[in-house]
Amino acid sequence: MPSDPRRISALCVYCGSNAGDDRVFVEAAATLGRDAAERGVRIVYGGGSIGLMGAVADAALAGGGEVHGIIPNHLARREIQNTEVTRMEVVESMHHRKMRMFDESDAFAILPGGLGTLDETFEMLTWRQLGLHDKPVVLVNVADYWTPLLEAIGQMVRRGFVRPKHAGLLSVVGRVEDLFPALELTPPPRPTDSIRLA
Ligand code: AMP
Repeated sequence: MPSDPRRISALCVYCGSNAGDDRVFVEAAATLGRDAAERGVRIVYGGGSIGLMGAVADAALAGGGEVHGIIPNHLARREIQNTEVTRMEVVESMHHRKMRMFDESDAFAILPGGLGTLDETFEMLTWRQLGLHDKPVVLVNVADYWTPLLEAIGQMVRRGFVRPKHAGLLSVVGRVEDLFPALELTPPPRPTDSIRLA
């Protein structure tokens, strides 16, 4: 745990292995990387050098920050393992990657991405819903990319499938510049044991 419990020392970033169709996404990813480096926050991410994942890592490293990549060996080639990172951990499966990314991080930030990003986000949220951890999960709604998803979650609440307090476990900021200020306002996570794979 960090010595100041409100201070995030390692931030897990979930985001696309593609860059999307608008430069605004890559720019947001680079801003996140730079802001993290400036604040001395280590980035924990999926270890790739492509898409938004690569943009976050490159900007953090260029800003003198620390980057910890965690990649399963079967993806090291497809996601083009980033060889420049401070620490690269090659694990045996997607499950181990997710577990290690969880263990190494104090909070989670979600940038635009695809199905993999959604999978990772909802696993952290559902673990939190089950009380397995209470690390903050913050979605960055860059250029309204995630608005349809937020509307879908709203519908789940209205139709009685998600409790409002569980929907509230996902924090939302509109711009990447608001991410760290939002994290500073969230209550500190309680220490959690590593979640065991079934
Ligand atoms: P995407 O958002 O689909 O571009 O994927 C972003 C990241 O999520 C990539 O590093 C993928 O390897 C990863 N990913 C894709 N599918 C899964 C999954 N089922 N579980 C965990 N991570 C995944």
